Amino acid sequence: MVAFFAVPVGVLVSPAGGWAIAVVGLLLILWRHNWNLTRLVAWTRKPVGTPLPHAFGVWDFVFSDLNRRARLASEQRTRLSTELDRFREASQAMPDGVMYLSHTDTIEWINRQAAKDFGLDPERDPGVPVTNLVRQPDFVHYLEAGNYADPFPYRPIHRKGAALLVQVIRFGDDRKMVISRDVSQLEKLETMRRDFVANVSHELRTPLTVVSGFIETVLDGGDEIARAERDQYLGMALDQAGRMQRLIQDLLALSALETDAPSPAEDVFEVGGLVREIGRETEALSAGRHQVVVRVESECRCAGSAKELHSAFANLASNAVRYTPDGGTVTLVWRVLEDGSAEFCVQDTGIGIAPEHVPRVTERFYRVDRGRSRETGGTGLGLAIVKHVLTRHQCELRVSSTPGKGSRFCVLLPARRVVSSDPGS
Ligand code: ADP
Repeated sequence: MVAFFAVPVGVLVSPAGGWAIAVVGLLLILWRHNWNLTRLVAWTRKPVGTPLPHAFGVWDFVFSDLNRRARLASEQRTRLSTELDRFREASQAMPDGVMYLSHTDTIEWINRQAAKDFGLDPERDPGVPVTNLVRQPDFVHYLEAGNYADPFPYRPIHRKGAALLVQVIRFGDDRKMVISRDVSQLEKLETMRRDFVANVSHELRTPLTVVSGFIETVLDGGDEIARAERDQYLGMALDQAGRMQRLIQDLLALSALETDAPSPAEDVFEVGGLVREIGRETEALSAGRHQVVVRVESECRCAGSAKELHSAFANLASNAVRYTPDGGTVTLVWRVLEDGSAEFCVQDTGIGIAPEHVPRVTERFYRVDRGRSRETGGTGLGLAIVKHVLTRHQCELRVSSTPGKGSRFCVLLPARRVVSSDPGS
């Protein structure tokens, strides 16, 4: 470059002038390098992603190369941050709680569920050691003990009744991922299952003890026991065997409703006929001890399982007889309502149910008066079966009762199950 300037100009001017021009040229070149260098330094201080300006000569190569690398780096950064956002969104959407801890157990990130499970704030709490915020001793001990082979059952004090399973997973550079899973529902189901098994065992144990007691007495008595007395013992044993049989039948019915559970067969049947039949069965059960009134106010047909609905309606009617003292009245009413739905109601003038018991009578083995239920051959499962059948038919059970005056159990059938009053359609 110097030569390019110096030689032709040197030919035209004196040697001193030539040197002067060469020096100026050199200075110009130096100034240009310096100028480009300054622009480069200024660029490094600008926000990431700012493109480099154009330059001349060799600097243009350098600048465009740097530009290309900066663009690649920026694209990579955008891709990484998109991936990170997606990963966080996925962690956020998880039904389980997720919390990341550093090697010093400082919170790095938490999703909303973990914040709820541990009582934390996902915005404010990252950066704080987790044991400064979650201070329950059992959790602190589990985290510090460092043995994470088994999950840890955790009951957070700030969420009454909640049961969590917490699992710590180590990863990377001694960092930890803490997963919390809400198992309250599972625990409730497990308690129900345990209670159910205990109830069934208890219900069977009593009659079984009575039956074996009577058999022992008859066997021990041998020929000395009078025939009439033996018959009496055997009769009582038979009663108890019948009780066990009823219980097992009800258990099987309940289990069939709970487990097989394909949607109920869609028979279309005459409800009036079904209600009258239940009326006759109720009279037979009462054996003249009650006045049984049957009122079919609307003749219509209904879609559903005739067998299941018969068993549910009959159960309500038999309860009315069993819980109404002699001389009382049991009324069965079937009617279609204005909005097209229909109701089957059983009203009695019996012992009634105190308000605190009403919401619980459909629970399995729930009885207001255990003795009375047994005396009348109850298993404590009748209304649980009724409830299952009605749920399967999208029907509702409404109970109103006044102790000492009587009860009214109404089944509300949705309009779409009430087919038509015309048997031909
Ligand atoms: P159970 O075999 O004991 O009758 P159910 O499930 O049919 O069992 O009923 C549960 C409890 O609800 C009964 O034990 C009884 O206390 C109460 N109950 C049900 N129907 C009536 C009624 N019509 N009048 C008074 N109490 C009733």
